[in-house]
Amino acid sequence: MIAHKTLTEKVYRIRAVWVLSTMLREMPVKSKLGQNFLHDAHAIERIATAVGDLAGRTVVEIGPGRGAITHALVARVKSAGPAGRVVAIELDRELAAALKVDFALEIAAADEGATVEVVEKSILDFDLTAAAEEAGGPLLVVGNLPYYITSDILLHLGKHHRAIERAVLMVQREVADRITASPGGSEYGLLSATVQLYGPVERLFSLPPSAFTPPPQVHSTVFRWKMAPQMEKLGVEEDEFFRFLRKCFAQKRKTLSNNLKAAGYESLQISKALQSAGVVPQARAETLDLNQFAKVSNYLALVNQ
Ligand code: SAM
Repeated sequence: MIAHKTLTEKVYRIRAVWVLSTMLREMPVKSKLGQNFLHDAHAIERIATAVGDLAGRTVVEIGPGRGAITHALVARVKSAGPAGRVVAIELDRELAAALKVDFALEIAAADEGATVEVVEKSILDFDLTAAAEEAGGPLLVVGNLPYYITSDILLHLGKHHRAIERAVLMVQREVADRITASPGGSEYGLLSATVQLYGPVERLFSLPPSAFTPPPQVHSTVFRWKMAPQMEKLGVEEDEFFRFLRKCFAQKRKTLSNNLKAAGYESLQISKALQSAGVVPQARAETLDLNQFAKVSNYLALVNQ
């Protein structure tokens, strides 16, 4: 019985691969959807490994494309034991259809529970919180991101931070430089502070354009993001603090003090707020860490109550 099932699966898999390769060959690459497919086998394995232990976990993949990373994730989920699954969110209708053919066996595996689900949708419309509730625990997120909406995706993940344990993401190298920058460095800015407010980031490795088909015009970097929100520790309210950070970084050339003046705060209050955080009057926002931003923000909120 088992041998028969295995043979049927093998025949199905061979037919699926043939149908799939024909479908993919005929499919034009959609650059406007950020389609640069990763073909470097070593990099694919490194990404899947970087997600960590997948036993019994639900992994959400953003933009699975032709399934290069998906296959590596599914293999790891299966070998890690029962109850693990990969939910692949792909906006491109044709690619989503091709993935459903490719993973038909995993999708239809009713007896052991489906290990793959393909959702044709924008990740920005995918409710990660509901998915985590369904999974019974926080999600792991993976993605070679479509670069045209990197910031929107990072903000979406941030909004759903309670639903996520960690994420391994590939972005344009220059964006990774900003995300992982420390205060005082030339790359530190609103994006660094925003992402790091949700938890620490760790740069893993970079790839040249030749690792992709078609090659993008930029280098790419993979980083890991562990969700460990800082809001409670800093004593700030999420949305209010983001509004404040946006004011602090409004004009890169201006000092923090001048940005806050432009936002309507009084000079005396600003100097006292900076003093309370141990920040010199001429400081630029790029030199403050989250703790200092929180102190300035909380001081100004208190005196403006
Ligand atoms: N993961 C594949 C790989 O590494 O080869 C493909 C990565 S490619 C850089 C980005 C993928 O995201 C494409 O398949 C693209 O169609 C998909 N995509 C673009 N916008 C999306 C969105 N809003 N939501 C989900 N997927 C999207």
